[in-house]
Amino acid sequence: MDDCIFCQIVAGDIPSRTVYEDDDVLAFLDANPLAPGHTLVIPKDHHESLNALPEELGSEVMSALHRLTPAVEDAVDAPASTVAFNNGEAAGQEVPHVHGHIVPRFEDDGGRPIHALVSDRPDLSDDELDDIAAEISG
Ligand code: 5GP
Ligand code: ZN
Repeated sequence: MDDCIFCQIVAGDIPSRTVYEDDDVLAFLDANPLAPGHTLVIPKDHHESLNALPEELGSEVMSALHRLTPAVEDAVDAPASTVAFNNGEAAGQEVPHVHGHIVPRFEDDGGRPIHALVSDRPDLSDDELDDIAAEISG
């Protein structure tokens, strides 16, 4: 993907502050961090979203996130972090190459929890919740 920023980072055509690399995964500091230590974890192969990511590669990305999260927190003395994917354009994903964010969090950093993502929560009945659960589980 010639026009993908993250593929160009993988190829070394755009510099990045790499904090982890293996055959399948690259992790580097976000260029416009929400907090010191804000790190992005990506598969080296181009896939737009989690939905398009082969399961094994998803496991490799998750494994790297799992190992890097405490390392990132320790590096900046953060007591916590928000670890998340903007998965798809409607969810705010701007770079269409799947990436997990590790955002170190601090007491009184002015940030909010994942429950603050949506202002208008749906008011779903028990039947609607049952139907959705059945739809997801197939
Ligand atoms: P998204 O909104 O797609 O989940 O997040 C994209 C992230 O990529 C943003 O946090 C943005 O700061 C970061 N980003 C965009 N371009 C570059 C770049 O060229 N280098 C690095 N290191 N980060 C980038
Ligand atoms: Zn890409």
